[in-house]
Amino acid sequence: MSETMHYQQHLYPGTREALGEAVHKKLHDKRFNHCLRVEQTAIQLAEENGVNLEKASIAGLIHDYAKERSDEEFVGMIKKHQMDPDLLNWGNAVWHGVVGAEFIRDELGIYDEDILNAVRHHTTGAVEMSPLEQVVYMADYIEPKRDFDGVDDARDITHKDLRAGVAYQTKQTMLYLAKKNAPIYPATLLTFNRWVAQKQMKYNY
Ligand code: GDP
Ligand code: FE
Ligand code: FE
Repeated sequence: MSETMHYQQHLYPGTREALGEAVHKKLHDKRFNHCLRVEQTAIQLAEENGVNLEKASIAGLIHDYAKERSDEEFVGMIKKHQMDPDLLNWGNAVWHGVVGAEFIRDELGIYDEDILNAVRHHTTGAVEMSPLEQVVYMADYIEPKRDFDGVDDARDITHKDLRAGVAYQTKQTMLYLAKKNAPIYPATLLTFNRWVAQKQMKYNY
């Protein structure tokens, strides 16, 4: 998707170029360039999986839109939208997706719930993830400059079978967090139970 393309589906009230500029204004070059790579990887995964390309472009480009906001801004947004108070126990790593979607709605005028959910769930995953959400979750993990042990396996698995890629990343993230005694956000744990342990929950809780 080239910079000068015009989005056709009214998911964002402007051109691809304008959206890129709006995102770049809020992010340092390094993180903005990561967003551009996630966009391209998301488009590729979308092509492979029959997912809407404009949604993949937009969601990939904006997924880290709120990452450089202060803790005070996130706390204000959690309170403004009366979001789950448990969020206040967490920090930027969780907030920039879950709460970041609200900045996107307020400031960028993007209201498509599939796109917003792709942002909300790009760090932790979720029990239910649409194909677009899976695409963004994986694009963030395997974009070309990602360099960690197993990234080539992650790329192979994901291009072969998107859902298997989701399971792979979810497992690696759990192992990584456990290894460094980091707290596991409940949604991350629920994602693991569904996508890795393949646990079907019979009863709602
Ligand atoms: P990035 O924004 O492109 O750097 O990537 P992500 O949004 O995927 O991840 C941001 C950070 O959140 C990474 O350092 C992850 O390890 C971390 N993270 C993901 N899930 C959890 C969790 O359940 N608990 C904690 N403490 N950190 C998490
Ligand atoms: Fe992120
Ligand atoms: Fe990212």
